[in-house]
Amino acid sequence: MNLAKFPRRGYVKEATPIEYLANFSKALGNKVNVYMKRDDLLPGCAGGNKTRKLDFSIADALSKGADTIITCGAVQSNHCRLTLAWAVHEGLDCHLVLEERVKGSYNPEASGNNFLYHLLGVKSITVVPGGSPMMEEMEKVAEKLRAEGKKPYIIPGGASNHIGALGYVSCAQEIMQQMFEMGLNFDHVVVPSGSAGTHAGMIAGFYGNNMDVPMIGIDVSRPGDVEAAIVHKLAQETLDYIGAGVTLPEEKVVCFGDYYQPGYSIPNDGMVEAVKMLARTEAILLDPVYSGKAMAGMIDLIRKDYFPKGANVLFLHTGGSPALYAYLPTFR
Ligand SMILES: *Cc1c(COP(=O)(O)O)cnc(C)c1O
Repeated sequence: MNLAKFPRRGYVKEATPIEYLANFSKALGNKVNVYMKRDDLLPGCAGGNKTRKLDFSIADALSKGADTIITCGAVQSNHCRLTLAWAVHEGLDCHLVLEERVKGSYNPEASGNNFLYHLLGVKSITVVPGGSPMMEEMEKVAEKLRAEGKKPYIIPGGASNHIGALGYVSCAQEIMQQMFEMGLNFDHVVVPSGSAGTHAGMIAGFYGNNMDVPMIGIDVSRPGDVEAAIVHKLAQETLDYIGAGVTLPEEKVVCFGDYYQPGYSIPNDGMVEAVKMLARTEAILLDPVYSGKAMAGMIDLIRKDYFPKGANVLFLHTGGSPALYAYLPTFR
């Protein structure tokens, strides 16, 4: 699909590596061959998946004459860190609205991404209770800034709309090219599924290009059916925005909601095992909120023989390791 017609800043200069995880595959009995797409190594302060989306979102903001970016996320949001980082790079102001999804979890002194918000010079942080209407809360900040003569642009949570999702359509196309170059066929792809732009963009990119590789989303915040409906809607909107002229069948969107409990950003044993396992077999850092829980899901599926023996399974590593430093007691 032609993405060249959409404005983009060019933050992603080259393909991120696809690596075979020999030690990790062996630790799981060599039942399957696990490969990893290293989007944790994307450019942008400390890397991660939001860079691909912001490449398109910030281009849209600039094309509309914005001088200020407003976005939102949880208290340890990688998306907020990367939006702020790219805003700094572009010479734009950046204001954050943080949702305290876990009551009492906002600590202005916290390490991890919170520390980076301050180091990167955030213009303001507004903390609102969990369940707040985030678009309205961001609109309030925008209203105030407009009164001061600013030109704010709102990027939705996770940059997960049809514009940001283009970044993951492009990732899907990049993977297709790498498969061809490596002479390697993936039988399954596993992705974390949160605000849905990553999963939706990936499925739109594969399906829109007639690449019928089964894709599994591991949910980090919502039950399977709820997340699948959100992913499907955004994937279809993205295909329509590109002008792909295809209808995505509902059954192509598969979400597993069994691995995020007891709740978004709250640690569980599977996540701790997954983070430690990747650190100790491959020296790769996952994160406690997204890639750690998604990896825990994939480990469980491998152990349960969900994938056929000898299958090539690609895991999308979306980054997030700065959040580890806000969870030190969990790993001690
Ligand atoms: C935001 C994020 C995700 C989830 O991506 P969505 O597009 O929000 O579903 C996964 N991993 C990390 C590290 C993230 O920051």
